[in-house]
Amino acid sequence: MDQQGLAPSGKLSVGTPEAFRKLPFTGKADFRRGFPARVVNHEETLPELTYTSSSSGTTGDRLVTVVHRPLLAERMAVTAAAHPGLSERLFGVAQRKVARLAAPNCSDVECATPLSTLTDRTLPDGTLVLSVAHDVLATSEAMVDKILDELTAYRPAWLYADPTHLAFLCGRLRERGIGSLPVRAVVLTYSLLTRAARRTVTAALPEGTPVAEVLSMSEFGWLGIECPAGARHLNERNYHHEILRDDGSEAATGEIGELVVTSVGDQLSPHVRYRTGDLLEPGGRCPCGAAGRTVVHHGRASTCLADGTTGRFVTARQADDALGDIPGVDHYRIDQSTPDTAHCRIIARADAPHDPVPAVRDRLRDLLPRVGRVHVTAVPHIEAERSGKFSTCSGPGRTAEGALL
Ligand SMILES: [Zn+2]
Repeated sequence: MDQQGLAPSGKLSVGTPEAFRKLPFTGKADFRRGFPARVVNHEETLPELTYTSSSSGTTGDRLVTVVHRPLLAERMAVTAAAHPGLSERLFGVAQRKVARLAAPNCSDVECATPLSTLTDRTLPDGTLVLSVAHDVLATSEAMVDKILDELTAYRPAWLYADPTHLAFLCGRLRERGIGSLPVRAVVLTYSLLTRAARRTVTAALPEGTPVAEVLSMSEFGWLGIECPAGARHLNERNYHHEILRDDGSEAATGEIGELVVTSVGDQLSPHVRYRTGDLLEPGGRCPCGAAGRTVVHHGRASTCLADGTTGRFVTARQADDALGDIPGVDHYRIDQSTPDTAHCRIIARADAPHDPVPAVRDRLRDLLPRVGRVHVTAVPHIEAERSGKFSTCSGPGRTAEGALL
């Protein structure tokens, strides 16, 4: 900051966009190493209304974040306003019963394991955390039964779920010929929502049930949401969002950049120009009329696939756009051990009209023309990450990551 002439003596002079953009970036490492002395406001106390979250650790590193509960609730409400139908279910009902279905590391209850009781898994605010297997696609039939029994008994107003976990559950329902899931609204977050997961989930819900993908991070809570027209709107009231190219300039519509977030009005532990490692693409105007610009969420920069050694990268969203409409694929994962090799494993539906492997191979060759070896195999199981999240892509990542610094 001294180098940029932004000496923090008295009030910081960052009142213009130019001065603001001179502020250095911050990142997870700053908040992990600096907690609490360097990242929590010394003048603030930690009252009862403080929410502490531990990050799921996509990168394997734990991170503690504190935020005032009313601010967290405001961020959620302002974000949700872009989807009025869902917002009504979230806030309009007298009894806000929420159930959560996500990897144990993501759900604030480390003990969301098969042997825990319902009481163990009920958070202080009444949220029921459903038990899950650490490796989602290895969830046993007995646990599927347990989840369904608990959902039926609890009858949540809405379900907060990881797309892969929920798609797995809904796929089991489909195979068993059971009608629909006993939930009245669904919020999907934590990991990339694939088109296949979207179809499976939608098919298992009563018609008209609001379903929306939410862009959220444990550091902030809700950042953006899918509107009824299918666009993702950012919450620009509680945050200042920058979507930045590698050279630090703003990405234009149709370009992909890294999301850098500055929290607005957070006096407890503010984030300034916080690099998220998530890739977004600024979108166009949305006819729904909701506030907040639209974006396309592309997934993590660190998992991007490489098109050979050309320097061209393919995001998890682009890979899903390529594979998403092939019938009969329930789950897939693309691994790239070298830039010249890609191995895609798929789990095909039992009732697939025909073998989807050749179609997947053709699409991947089109998507990654400079990758010499493209292998596709149908498998009975694909493992989740060590963190418990399920990733659709594991490539070398964008080498340009870090260029912003
Ligand atoms: Zn919209």
